[in-house]
Amino acid sequence: MNHHGHHLRLERDWEGVAWLMLDRAGERVNTLSAELLEELTEVVGMLEAEPPSGLVIASAKSEGFCAGADLDEVSAITTAAAARELVERGWKLFERISRLPFPTLALIRGHCLGGGLELALACSYRIVVDEPATRLGLPEVRLGLVPAWGGMRRLPALIGPSGALDLMLSGRDLSARSAWKLGLADVCVPPRVMENAARAVVMSGRHCRHLPWRDVLKATVLRRVVAAQARKRLASRVRKDHYPAPFALLDLWARHGGDTLAEPDESPVSIAALLRSDTARELLRVFRLRERLRRSGNVAHQVAQVHVVGAGTMGGDIAILCAASGFRVTLQDARGEAVAAAVGRAAQRARQLHPRDPLAERDLLDRLVPDTEGHGVRRADLIIEAVVEDIEVKRRLFAELEARARPDALLATNTSSLALEDIAAGLSDPARMIGLHFFNPVAKMPLVEVVAAGHSNASVIARATGFVVALGKLPLQVSSAPGFLVNAVLAPYLFEALRCVDEGLAPSAVDRAMQEAGMPVGPLELVDRIGLDVALAAGRALGLGPVPACLSEAVEQGRLGLKSGHGLYEWVDGAPQQDGDETAPDGLAARLFAPLDDAARDALARGVVADADLVDAGLIFGAGYPPFTGGPLRRAARSQETA
Ligand code: NAD
Repeated sequence: MNHHGHHLRLERDWEGVAWLMLDRAGERVNTLSAELLEELTEVVGMLEAEPPSGLVIASAKSEGFCAGADLDEVSAITTAAAARELVERGWKLFERISRLPFPTLALIRGHCLGGGLELALACSYRIVVDEPATRLGLPEVRLGLVPAWGGMRRLPALIGPSGALDLMLSGRDLSARSAWKLGLADVCVPPRVMENAARAVVMSGRHCRHLPWRDVLKATVLRRVVAAQARKRLASRVRKDHYPAPFALLDLWARHGGDTLAEPDESPVSIAALLRSDTARELLRVFRLRERLRRSGNVAHQVAQVHVVGAGTMGGDIAILCAASGFRVTLQDARGEAVAAAVGRAAQRARQLHPRDPLAERDLLDRLVPDTEGHGVRRADLIIEAVVEDIEVKRRLFAELEARARPDALLATNTSSLALEDIAAGLSDPARMIGLHFFNPVAKMPLVEVVAAGHSNASVIARATGFVVALGKLPLQVSSAPGFLVNAVLAPYLFEALRCVDEGLAPSAVDRAMQEAGMPVGPLELVDRIGLDVALAAGRALGLGPVPACLSEAVEQGRLGLKSGHGLYEWVDGAPQQDGDETAPDGLAARLFAPLDDAARDALARGVVADADLVDAGLIFGAGYPPFTGGPLRRAARSQETA
């Protein structure tokens, strides 16, 4: 009863255990396309006809177990009937798998997400392989959807409603160990024993976790009570009109225990409505934009050793990120105390990243070498400069670096506002110089602008892009224009917010209005965090017109924002004091978004990035522009369509 199909392989071993390997043809990762599910239905039929002693489902891909549904197929859905068909396909098949008359086990190595986890949940047992790449989760709400192939019913029954709702409503994923501790996996093993462990568990005859919560959760009343509490917590951090999917999830779970097909298609929380909503369409597009940026860095970067010059706010954090991503880093600064402070921050970060793993914690710290003399320059494959924003200092430094660096080393500057051409002017080989523009705070911000000047060599840009992906960041190739993309588009918006303060509006009223419009941080808190002096210099460099009086006066008085403790807000323990209940006038968000939209269109027209999608991606990943809108250009295009 072997099967060697297009996407699946089924073989029986000497003990009569059937091994089903997921191997979607022509793809790097497994996704559950209609075609693959059809083949799986066929295989399940074969197993029912000739039952093995047990079934292990695993992946033949090195990339992971399964990434979930095929999102191209999901995005293509336009009718309620097609939505229903998509749900039925997985729901019925996984139901059948859960009823197979022999023990079944999912052997999970690498990512196991969405529909992939729903498949694993339909098995009697789950083994997780203890590696950093193993991540389990149901991220559907992040795409404006809900888990519809049985996960919404099986996960709460397995680990209890509160843990399950937390996972499903946040869409976050878990490490192998956390999944095991939560009871989502039965066993957590190192890779070398995974096959033997799978065979032993599936043949053990031991009681699988018998969905301890299953019977309790059959009571609709109980589900309604739990859902009402979860809704309250959810509403305090997410707005329903921006992100309806998690609220729909709670309704569907409370009403039908997770059977999405039980909700009529006309209902606004039905899967048919969610799948065809603007939010899901935009979030699916944002997901694909993220993949596009990642794929743009699918290049061998040939970097092992990095040298960072400047150990301040940015340089220190860039060096820490490099060490945390497995690179060896030397860190140089004119001031020894700056390097010492960065090493202190690295120790904190290492503890945070590797709790209870002192070896990994020490390895990270070992990779970051203080180097006040700059000995690392000669050995580095990549040198990143993050010293003070002063053209003369940077020019002199690059001349010295070029003289000592290996001829094939990449040279990168983290400048925000200086022209790359000016910095590279004194180099004998400017072709190997690019910009790597990180955002503050480095650890949190997903985007890095890879800046190419006319002189930059294409293979240097490609390698730098690959390096950014290796840091776990999203690279965006931009041209060397003032403010590159993100700052050029964001700055006019920040200046407009400052003009509102000049007109007498309270900063907290302006910030609240923009947060209600979906921005993660209000513009005036952001100015305080950036530093008023930096904002002033950026506004002048970008030629944004008259400087708002509140900005120039604050800078004159030394009120520079967070770093000085006073700015547009008073700062206490790193938090702005945003008291006051003044509200902003209607239409304020539209007023503030208008200059941002204009600047986005202008950046596109100037060719700062290659196309409109990349403008949206830059603003979403680099400035926290609300993803549900699809980005500034996309939102403008939609409102024109509806006008
Ligand atoms: P910072 O003042 O915190 O750190 C600069 C460091 O450079 C200081 O520790 C200083 O001692 C050191 N330094 C100065 N001259 C040096 C030299 N010749 N050799 C070695 N070390 C030297 O500055 P920062 O905020 O980290 O900014 C650094 C760079 O990053 C600037 O180009 C800035 O435009 C850019 N940038 C800053 C941010 C931000 O939000 N702070 C964001 C993106 C990019």
